[in-house]
Amino acid sequence: MKICVLPGDGIGPEIIVEAVRVLKALGLAFEMEEAPVGGAGYRALGHPLPESTLALAKASDAILFGAVGDFSLDSLPRELRPEQAILGLRKELNLFANFRPALVYPELVDASSLKPEVISGLDILIIRELTGDIYFGKPRGIRTLESGEREGFDTMRYSESEIRRVLRVGFDAARKRSKRLCSVDKANVLDTMQLWREVAVEVGKEYPDVELSHQYVDNAAMQLLKNPKQFDVIVTGNMFGDILSDEASMLTGSIGMLPSASLNENNFGLYEPIHGSAPDIAGKGIANPLATILSAAMMLRFSFNHIEAADRIEAAVKRVLAQGFRTGDIIEPGMKAIGTREMGDAVLAALN
Ligand code: NAD
Repeated sequence: MKICVLPGDGIGPEIIVEAVRVLKALGLAFEMEEAPVGGAGYRALGHPLPESTLALAKASDAILFGAVGDFSLDSLPRELRPEQAILGLRKELNLFANFRPALVYPELVDASSLKPEVISGLDILIIRELTGDIYFGKPRGIRTLESGEREGFDTMRYSESEIRRVLRVGFDAARKRSKRLCSVDKANVLDTMQLWREVAVEVGKEYPDVELSHQYVDNAAMQLLKNPKQFDVIVTGNMFGDILSDEASMLTGSIGMLPSASLNENNFGLYEPIHGSAPDIAGKGIANPLATILSAAMMLRFSFNHIEAADRIEAAVKRVLAQGFRTGDIIEPGMKAIGTREMGDAVLAALN
């Protein structure tokens, strides 16, 4: 099992190191190799996704990713900016299915801006298609009309096979959970989404044991706030998923706690926390490493089928929260914040 470790920028290296320590403590036979990416890639080798980094990623079985983003490089041409690394990896490795669990830990119920009774016990999974839709559809651009006015345009586009493969991922995931899948579209207005719904119904016939429901995206956005516990697995397109998964993550109120996975058809995955490089706290040793540690657990579960080891890490995280260990982002009145390394130490201790 070869893991490509890409720490990236800002707090990336600080949080990755804790996840690597946890992985090593499991006593499994991993080979891990690190490479620069994002701003660090640009500084070391002149490109956010250097060829050698991409080659290492392709020669590995999974990627553990920190975060990229470095405001001091924002004046570079778009193709050289740190964030291009993640887009390049998604494209090169065909990572079309993005898994974003939103889980509310009992100890962190008060971190949410919603009432405890609405979110307590929440455990949902949003699966977002990641390589198609209006973000990649062509034609796109800004043109000047005959009247002299400028017009911006993008193209929403999904092929049947792109819809089918992400729906199947959704159904498979629902099968392993509570066997309920909600497909989110905008079939009442958009032709692309009409096709999405038709294909969802077709694929649903292959999974008679999974209950399929449909919601329009505007309703889904409301329902996520009103009654998020009605959902189990949600599957949706790239743009709607972008917005809904961020909304869902905020139900939990703790950006430093949420892992994610982006998978291709062979279960090769890139695993990363949902947050960015947090330049405001980088280098201070105060970032919360739990989202990255939980991303490592997702990697064990999805790419390596080491379910027991994944369970062990997730149980250790629950234990440290129950013991009252908190980094600054999830602190409550009367508690003392610990740093990134201490949180890593606490998880290691709880593992054993
Ligand atoms: P951010 O997620 O980096 O930070 C938002 C806020 O959350 C900040 O106040 C930060 O201190 C806090 N925060 C984030 N992670 C934390 C953690 N683990 N522990 C404690 N606090 C944490 O988002 P941003 O500030 O909008 O973006 C910063 C940079 O990250 C930008 O360059 C952006 O493009 C990039 N970014 C990268 C990714 C990625 O690598 N996948 C994702 C989002 C943003």
